[in-house]
Amino acid sequence: MRAISDFPRVRLGILPTPLQKLENLSRELGKNIYMKRDDMTGVALGGNKVRKLEFLLADALAKGADTVMTTGQAQSNHAMLTAACANKLGMQALLMLKKRGVTDRKGNQILNQILGAQVEFYDTDRYTDIYEEMARRKTELTKAGHIAYEIPVGGSTALGALGYVECFRETMEQCEALGVRPDRMVSVVGSGGTYAGLCAGADLFAPQVKVTGMAVDNDPFEQISAQLKLEIGGLLELDRPLGPENIEIHYNCGAGYGIPGPEDGEAVRYLARLEGILLDPVYTGKAFSLFLRMLREGAFDGDETIIFLHSGGAGGLFAIDLPEAKKSKKV
Ligand SMILES: *Cc1c(COP(=O)(O)O)cnc(C)c1O
Repeated sequence: MRAISDFPRVRLGILPTPLQKLENLSRELGKNIYMKRDDMTGVALGGNKVRKLEFLLADALAKGADTVMTTGQAQSNHAMLTAACANKLGMQALLMLKKRGVTDRKGNQILNQILGAQVEFYDTDRYTDIYEEMARRKTELTKAGHIAYEIPVGGSTALGALGYVECFRETMEQCEALGVRPDRMVSVVGSGGTYAGLCAGADLFAPQVKVTGMAVDNDPFEQISAQLKLEIGGLLELDRPLGPENIEIHYNCGAGYGIPGPEDGEAVRYLARLEGILLDPVYTGKAFSLFLRMLREGAFDGDETIIFLHSGGAGGLFAIDLPEAKKSKKV
């Protein structure tokens, strides 16, 4: 087996992120609920992509790259964080975004501009179209004497996912120090790397901990996660492959990716008003909304200790409205 510490990694985040008990939420629901605060990874507005980029950009540096190219939708947190992390390493970011979602100068688009990223929009529904263009641009850049490094949507390669194998290990270490015995970790699933990394981490370090994924898009994430787990096992040169056994994914797509429904809006406001913690409209708000519904419907054993991963996304709050189920009352 190859240890994760053997992989090149560039320190970008402020780690470990806090692990915090949500006292008010736990009291309200009669559960033990903790939050792993990866919204506080310490670059720009924080978020899960920083951990992936520590491995991906180390690889880019090793290859001598001066330019990083990536993609996502218009309000992609991943693209914004790639630009922020690239800046820290003296690389130029080229963000080749889908012309989908909120393309105006709002939320992450404001941040991309402040960060000085080069942003281009492509009017297509398929990332394969953008990858073709990315390959073309890479050739052009190479001819002009640059070295460009390509990162796929969400940074969800096996190498990027190592960041979440590490996050799982880090969380278990914190639990041990606090005397907490977690039964389950809950994470949002967007492109799959975070969730697959956590599942692989559980296999390696604490197989008794269940890992529940809350998907916010319609892709077949059972297969995607299983494939990523195989590739993570391959990278780590394990004797036995990492199997799909602990994959458990529920879906909250609603009206579609990036479109929160009234129930999701209520969930974001509920946590903000109970704990002063801000979830986001695209990922954590929808994941938390489904998590709450499942908790209320008794989907988890009564006395489970559960850790909810807050994967960030704050920029989206300033671009995407959170619908209300009913008028909130005023004093
Ligand atoms: C990208 C993102 C996710 C999804 O992570 P994946 O590894 O792509 O599944 C979750 N939350 C936030 C805030 C994100 O930006």
